[in-house]
Amino acid sequence: MSFSELGLHDDLLRAVTAQGYTKPTPIQLKAIPVVLEGRDLLASAQTGTGKTAGFTLPMLQRLSNGKRPAKRQVRALVLTPTRELAAQVGESVSTYGQHLALRSHIIFGGVGQQPQVDALKAGLDVLIATPGRLLDLQQQGHVDLSAVEILVLDEADRMLDMGFIHDIKRVLRLVPKQRQNLLFSATFSNEIQALAQQLLNNPALIEVAPRNTTAEKIEQAVYRVDRDKKRELLAHLIQRHGWFQVLVFTRTKHGANRLAEQLTKQDIPAMAIHGNKSQGARTRALGAFKSGDLQVLVATDIAARGLDISELPHVVNFDLPNVAEDYVHRIGRTGRAGSNGEAVSLVCVDEHGLLGNIERLIKQSLPKRIEPGFEPDPNAKPEPIENGRRQQRHPQARRKPTSDAAKPGGERRRRARR
Ligand code: AMP
Repeated sequence: MSFSELGLHDDLLRAVTAQGYTKPTPIQLKAIPVVLEGRDLLASAQTGTGKTAGFTLPMLQRLSNGKRPAKRQVRALVLTPTRELAAQVGESVSTYGQHLALRSHIIFGGVGQQPQVDALKAGLDVLIATPGRLLDLQQQGHVDLSAVEILVLDEADRMLDMGFIHDIKRVLRLVPKQRQNLLFSATFSNEIQALAQQLLNNPALIEVAPRNTTAEKIEQAVYRVDRDKKRELLAHLIQRHGWFQVLVFTRTKHGANRLAEQLTKQDIPAMAIHGNKSQGARTRALGAFKSGDLQVLVATDIAARGLDISELPHVVNFDLPNVAEDYVHRIGRTGRAGSNGEAVSLVCVDEHGLLGNIERLIKQSLPKRIEPGFEPDPNAKPEPIENGRRQQRHPQARRKPTSDAAKPGGERRRRARR
């Protein structure tokens, strides 16, 4: 089925064709008609599936068809967990809406607010925002959400992980009761189901097979190694196999910085990307990585979330994630768009419990390897993991203060004091 058969306007079709898209992805096939109908939607889909166009195209069509208020007002609000994702959604809205007379703007923390205030004053139809800055500006009287017709929560599971539930509830009190709601989430945890129940009215349910649970195209392996040999093993694997465009995940920002420095010293160009880096530094690192100038990008989970890096050949878990679902998100970065990918995890004795959690979640036992010269000490005793197993039972409590992209520039801390 083509985009035109889905009932999209010529103005949108032209923009889609200019992007080189020939046919809708599965999520687009299912979501576009539902959104055009005006129904609420609960969709399980993650980055890489084409979900952004799946909600943006029909949302723009509804806005351009609908009755426009005399004064330009925010009629569609898209909430995202991170500024990277907000920027990507904002770009999609501009691209797909280029032939429509609609105005959009992105709002997120960590940058000066004046341009955002100016854009709001000038009048907008579509607002894409991270919750913290949105509420800051609303409290200052710069945002009026009383005309919102469509509310989208993108990567809702990640928003909850990052402790945004109260912010979301506050936003819900600011929008009209009568509206269309679209909720996208990679996972359907109990918390997401509770939110869906509160938010959605007789929603259509759409689930597209997350590419990373089919896993056929992703070769996964675990290297058993001692804690203090991980860095050496990583450098060895990269050099021996000639890996390029390697995305490496670490548990902490400090760990990401240290690893990037050490790899660079070993002639493996690497940069770290995390919430303490300025937006400019992140954009530069990502640009160099995408263009192939940078061999290794070291990232924390939250910083990596929402990055549109496609067809990535290698993902390495330098540390296993504390939350098993993050493993699925991480390896979903590889093997995209029909290409093969490899996801390698370096696992020391401290992480056996985390590995067990992951294997239970993905319902498979991962192949274990030992690299000659890096045999783990069979008598090694596990040590507690920094930010690790102790908090495993309370991932929310751990994530709130440490979520590195949650509130750039201390936005959350400032608001918490109020
Ligand atoms: P998303 O899952 O929304 O982050 O989209 C992932 C990538 O797929 C983006 O780079 C889009 O430009 C691209 N994309 C979205 N829809 C299509 C399509 N129908 N055909 C080809 N590429 C697409």
